[in-house]
Amino acid sequence: MSAQILDGLGLARQIRTSLQERTRALREAGVVPRLEVIVATQDPASVAYVRMKRKWCELAGLESGAFEVGPDTTQAQLLDQIRRLNEDPKVHGVLIQHPLPGHLDEHEALLTLGAEKDVDGITPQSLGRLVADLPGFRCATPLGIMTLLDRHGIPLQGRRALVIGRSVILGKPMALMLLQKHATVTIAHSRTQNLPDLCREADVVVAAVGRAAMVRGDWIKPGAVVVDAGYNRVEGRDTDVGDVHFESASQVASWITPVPGGVGPMTVASLLANTVEAAERAARA
Ligand code: NAP
Repeated sequence: MSAQILDGLGLARQIRTSLQERTRALREAGVVPRLEVIVATQDPASVAYVRMKRKWCELAGLESGAFEVGPDTTQAQLLDQIRRLNEDPKVHGVLIQHPLPGHLDEHEALLTLGAEKDVDGITPQSLGRLVADLPGFRCATPLGIMTLLDRHGIPLQGRRALVIGRSVILGKPMALMLLQKHATVTIAHSRTQNLPDLCREADVVVAAVGRAAMVRGDWIKPGAVVVDAGYNRVEGRDTDVGDVHFESASQVASWITPVPGGVGPMTVASLLANTVEAAERAARA
């Protein structure tokens, strides 16, 4: 392997330690930072992610709570709960864990959540602020990736970046954040033609697809930076697999994220950092 590792887990732990100091100061000022999560109980992956997020909250000095939604939860109950959380001064951040059960309207839920508590940065209001270059909470996963690139001194200005995936929570905001740092950005998706050739032109590749090991080493320009946001369950393996074929891509890239231990922990660290910032704002108000 020639690539250096973009160590997301190591950086996320450092961020968590710095958050401990901030949460201690907040508690001394009488503010206990608190994150509330809305989660579908019948989705095992969501339940596992939320369990991990709650553990990280505890380690960073935040309190957390969960509102569990199931087959019997009505849309009215969901929206009532979101409105309650919007109004509760003890709650600083709210995460609506995707996906909610199919009978619930997730868009309406996101439209109901107040932007000042949208620490995952995925409501239309937060995304609009990103598009308009206005301050606001940024989406946790792309924010985590930007922090990872920044802390490793990866230059972006004038570089060609390729984002593979155009989802609202990942691909699109990722592309906008790279654009804000003056990269020349291309977004690829399922109808893109000649993806391997496009990929070979990129100095920075962010894979956000959801297809195990799709991006191969021979797609990568020598010396490119490769970020793998994918988490894919593969039968017969204990750990999730990324969208990048790590073994071959790491022979060609200059920097690469591992899976696990790359983007995942940075997402959680960003979510917690946004929540602490929301609590600090509340304390100043
Ligand atoms: P998503 O909503 O399913 O979007 C996937 C995107 O990939 C879509 O834009 C799709 O294109 C595109 N795509 C699918 N097949 C493709 C192909 N063959 N070639 C090129 N593009 C293709 O998924 P997501 O929520 O963005 O998540 C993407 C991955 O990131 C998943 O593995 C997910 O588990 C992971 N993830 C990780 C974190 C984290 O914290 N690390 C957070 C969120 C998600 P179309 O738009 O044309 O359909």
